[in-house]
Amino acid sequence: MRFSLPALPYADDALAPVISPRTVGLHYGKHHRTYVDNLNRLVAGSDLEDRTLEEIIRTTGGNPAKAEIYNNAGQVWNHNLYWRSLRPKGGGPPKGELGDRIAAAFGGYQAFRQQFGKAAQSQFGSGWVWLVADEAELKIVKTANAAAPFARGRTVLFTVDVWEHAYYLDYENRRGEHVDALLDRLIDWGFAAENLANGKLASAGLART
Ligand code: MN
Repeated sequence: MRFSLPALPYADDALAPVISPRTVGLHYGKHHRTYVDNLNRLVAGSDLEDRTLEEIIRTTGGNPAKAEIYNNAGQVWNHNLYWRSLRPKGGGPPKGELGDRIAAAFGGYQAFRQQFGKAAQSQFGSGWVWLVADEAELKIVKTANAAAPFARGRTVLFTVDVWEHAYYLDYENRRGEHVDALLDRLIDWGFAAENLANGKLASAGLART
């Protein structure tokens, strides 16, 4: 198989109580795995088989005939990043340069948390919310379904999945409460700071989006 499901960087109960082991089991073990399996099936024997995940996403984006490949490749990339964006005992106000940059861009952690939460709440239907560096400026960006903020000069720092499968078992319809808890307790700011410093995405082998 060309693409594989990356191992989780923590135990399946390590994110509880914000994300239960049951949600991790379904979300990682079934949803994420299915995107990987689908992608492998869809590219097998085609000219996309030897391309990187990022190349497949760029090549198939905007082509209705390739939508199924694009959606599955995008969801693999997004989920690879999502699990890396979290860690047990993470979250809360970030320290160091990233903390300073967030304070400058949004007016402090509480204001950032509020704006990120508003973006998550206002994403109609399934999608993702991202913290990105757009050239020198930090921005909160939301995307629908499988899309990622691929654009010249944008570096992704971390992402939050706002598909219902990410939170419904634990928070039912309370998406905002779930996203607040992720920001306060699980975001891996070290990973975000590393992405900001490197201008690339270690989780997916992506050099600037
Ligand atoms: Mn998901």
